[in-house]
Amino acid sequence: MTAFHGGYVGVVLDVDLTKRRVASRPLDPALARRVLGGSGLGAEVLWDEVGPDVDPLSPEAVLIVATGPLTGTPWPCSGRTEAVARSPLTGIYGDSNAGGTFGPGLKSAGFDAIVVRGGSTDPVVLRIADGRATIDDAGSVWGLDTVETEAALRARYAAPALQVASIGPAGERGVRFASIQATPNRSFGRCGLGAVMGAKGLKAIAVSGSRRVPIAEPAAFAELAKTMHARIRANAMFPACSRYGTPGLVRVVNEIGRFPTRNFQDGEFAGAEAISGEALRERFFVADAGCFACPVRCDKVYRISSGRFAGVETSSVEYETLNAFGAGLGNADLELILYANERCDRLGLDTISAGRAIGFAMELVERGVVSREDLGGLSGMWGDEATIVGLLDCIAARDGIGDVLADGVRRAAVAFGAAAAPYAMEVKGMEIPAQDGRAQQSMGLAHITSNRGADHLKAFPTIDETGNPDEVARRYGSQYLPEMADPHATRHKALLVKDGEDFGAVVDSVGVCKSGGTFVMAEIYWTDIAAGVSAATGWRLEESELRVIGERIVNLTRAYNGRLGVTRADDRLPDRLTHEPSPARGARGHVAHAEELLDEYYGLRGWDAARGWPTEETLDRLGLGDARLALWGQGDG
Ligand code: SF4
Repeated sequence: MTAFHGGYVGVVLDVDLTKRRVASRPLDPALARRVLGGSGLGAEVLWDEVGPDVDPLSPEAVLIVATGPLTGTPWPCSGRTEAVARSPLTGIYGDSNAGGTFGPGLKSAGFDAIVVRGGSTDPVVLRIADGRATIDDAGSVWGLDTVETEAALRARYAAPALQVASIGPAGERGVRFASIQATPNRSFGRCGLGAVMGAKGLKAIAVSGSRRVPIAEPAAFAELAKTMHARIRANAMFPACSRYGTPGLVRVVNEIGRFPTRNFQDGEFAGAEAISGEALRERFFVADAGCFACPVRCDKVYRISSGRFAGVETSSVEYETLNAFGAGLGNADLELILYANERCDRLGLDTISAGRAIGFAMELVERGVVSREDLGGLSGMWGDEATIVGLLDCIAARDGIGDVLADGVRRAAVAFGAAAAPYAMEVKGMEIPAQDGRAQQSMGLAHITSNRGADHLKAFPTIDETGNPDEVARRYGSQYLPEMADPHATRHKALLVKDGEDFGAVVDSVGVCKSGGTFVMAEIYWTDIAAGVSAATGWRLEESELRVIGERIVNLTRAYNGRLGVTRADDRLPDRLTHEPSPARGARGHVAHAEELLDEYYGLRGWDAARGWPTEETLDRLGLGDARLALWGQGDG
């Protein structure tokens, strides 16, 4: 029996790998109403259980895998699941969101979320089948790559609907930006959560089941879902998103000068056309692919049929990877990017951080900080195939200089000495993704304020990317025009980032996608999500309550970081982006007025201007009394 009427299964699986115990418990309905699920649920568990003294790679660390109330329902793009832990890469709050079918599979198997504690001395697989969980031996798959692991587990468990989340050799060896790969070839990419699994001896989670997600108001929900599918299909961006996926962004983003090139030395890449979404489709497209209940199907399968990489077949080749292994490394060879994408997926590596770590090493060679000998004889030249392939494998194996780079750019910069510091393109220890904030001021601010370190997906400001005044007027009002739609303007960007973060926290907590519908297409917004969650759960959830939930999750993760000592001083971009003008034609200067923007952003949030922490009043308003006590104590702060 469940206290829920729909949306949730109503059950959490607790796993203790040290004691080799599993136990089911009810999901607290009041907690679900406070934070929904996914990212919000993970943040709550992390706050309660993983304090400042817990090493992210110790048995005391906790890994949460959580779905949301829309995950696995007919709502469009509802295949999303969140993994949450203290990040071994950044040392602060860490999360990563994956699409595909793993999350819906977890709910089919009878659980909304899994909380993994402890650690096993022997490799194990967590097997969940129709409400029953076991901890199985993984000795035979330890050491295999993620594709081999999934194939072996399919053969072992012989469940047609099996969904697998597994780590590769990188996670086993504690690479701090190791990913978790989930069926079918989707990634929990950022924050190094694959290393958390590896440290626990947890090679994979394999789920299967036959339950359907209950819906409280089936007719109303079906009608709403149908309307949302239709609106997504009618969206002006649907044809391009559907045909090219995120790689379709390469041309336009390069034109506006926001395409990081050679470790952010430039924002415009001469070889962009060769690595564009159009070129990718024309040369290597095999088939469309997509996540659960998605009308967009932005994913594609690509195959290289001849040449030195003949036989490589890969999918989930995102805009980010085309940048991280393309322009970011001065590489215009699309085949090499496809090979690197497949290699990262098999090894279990975040393509963004892996590419940036290699780009960092290449710039250090260019600047004379690191020698070719340090690179084991590799040239380190921009675009050099041997360097890219060689360093990738060295990182995954923690071999030679790869052992230093495997700890991420921030730690590597410390290891290489003061001369390396100016070229470390990271915020709070997270390698910066493929948005040069010098060409879009809101992205510069978003990278600073994200609670998991440099990141575009938390605030995901898209409507000022190339200027979308109609959407600005619809969402915020025409009084914010023209500046809010202007990528170079700073005015009103604090509001754009704050609202995006709050809405994004909700999207990551209900279990839907940011590419399809919500952010890239800017079609589905607060009222739609409120209506969908209401019909799924039977709650009467107004937009105003949903907005508070979004704020609550952002403030809780900020408070988590505050408890770890993160302050305003950590909210800063590398000097290159704030002091060096971008040479790109589409960019104008550098990220401007970062401190003023932060003041405005903190003001909107109700955060203390000196420390950048939520004030006591803000935490009380959001029902975060524990966080108030932890940050400000009993006194008046
Ligand atoms: S839009 Fe793309 S990433 Fe999002 S659910 Fe659809 S296929 Fe998956």
